[in-house]
Amino acid sequence: MRGESGGGELISFSPIVRADKMSALLMPLPTARKHRRRVVFSRMWAGPSAKNPRVALLLAIESSCDETAVAIVRGEAGERTEVLASEINSQIALHREHGGVVPELASRNHSLHLRGLVEMALRDAGVRIDEIDAFAATTGPGLASSLLIGSTAAKGMACAAQRPFLGINHLEGHLLSPFLAETSVPPHVALIVSGGHTLLLDVEGPGRYRKLGGTRDDAAGEAFDKVGKMLGLPYPGGPEIEKTAGGGNPNAYDFPRSMLHDPHLDFSFSGLKTAVLYTLQKANGKVSIADLSASFQQAVIEILVGKTLRAARESGRQIIALSGGVSLNQALRSAFQDACAKSGHELVTASPDFCTDNAAMIAFAALLRHLAGECSPLGEDIHPNLPLV
Ligand code: ADP
Ligand code: MG
Repeated sequence: MRGESGGGELISFSPIVRADKMSALLMPLPTARKHRRRVVFSRMWAGPSAKNPRVALLLAIESSCDETAVAIVRGEAGERTEVLASEINSQIALHREHGGVVPELASRNHSLHLRGLVEMALRDAGVRIDEIDAFAATTGPGLASSLLIGSTAAKGMACAAQRPFLGINHLEGHLLSPFLAETSVPPHVALIVSGGHTLLLDVEGPGRYRKLGGTRDDAAGEAFDKVGKMLGLPYPGGPEIEKTAGGGNPNAYDFPRSMLHDPHLDFSFSGLKTAVLYTLQKANGKVSIADLSASFQQAVIEILVGKTLRAARESGRQIIALSGGVSLNQALRSAFQDACAKSGHELVTASPDFCTDNAAMIAFAALLRHLAGECSPLGEDIHPNLPLV
């Protein structure tokens, strides 16, 4: 368990026993004998990572939602991390006909594809499983049944290979992804914009995060997806709206920029979503989908850029980092580039390959922790609502 430092609350890696809905579904507590055996296991595998290795080969699994992903990275303290393999099996096509993610379908497909992806990653990376120094998996936040598949598989491999296991917060993966190609993670202000999260953080360094603001209702990606559905576009709505917006007028509709000028750094996108719905209803379908998409996208961009630049000014950080699926949006990237060029901030964005869910970002977060001598107990549970700070 880590404490607090630099005014920021730090991530806890101690096993947390949660009395939430999940616990009712879990098996009864282990007997005393089983429990004793578990303690011996965690002592056995807590050992290797306590040596603060200088170089390491990490295999990580990401299965928090509808992407099954496996990556292998090689890293060394102070050097650029090498992504040797990054395999992703996207289930988007599978869930598209349902208009959103169906949890049971997602977990079944994770278990069907995981083994093949691990084998493919090892082959592409040109390494044997016994050369891997540590195994990692996303342990939260996400869909419980999906998280369980990846974390159980990673623990199983760690057990068999007698190597450490690291449970990684999915949001920490996104947060650090812009620095995958860098030699260090400098102090900065971070905006994570994904399907499930819109989070502004002050980052002192790896593991030292302070929340500055977050969404009070829908995440930015969720708003893109819901508006996409209203406009009759395929799931997920984000990339479809971006395509449609290309031919539209971003000033055609004056949609609300909720909370943009409020003194806090929180976000709200549900009013904007409702404004699009009312516009559609009022026009009785006689609207330009391109104009609606462009105007909606412009409102989201102005809110995200405005709040993030203010966060950077207020916290005195020179670097702004952008991550998560929505950060793939080219209009959003250009708006950030223009704003940063004007204000003198440096913009660091995650590579397009590592914006939506992937395992390379999880492996990178795990690598930094492994090189710092950390590991998680094999008894660590998944945490569907795991906060980052
Ligand atoms: P999560 O981790 O919450 O599952 P991801 O980081 O995988 O989310 O990102 C998925 C989200 O990104 C979806 O909401 C999707 O609509 C959005 N997205 C992907 N590409 C774009 C784009 N070009 N423009 C806007 N949103 C996008
Ligand atoms: Mg994600």
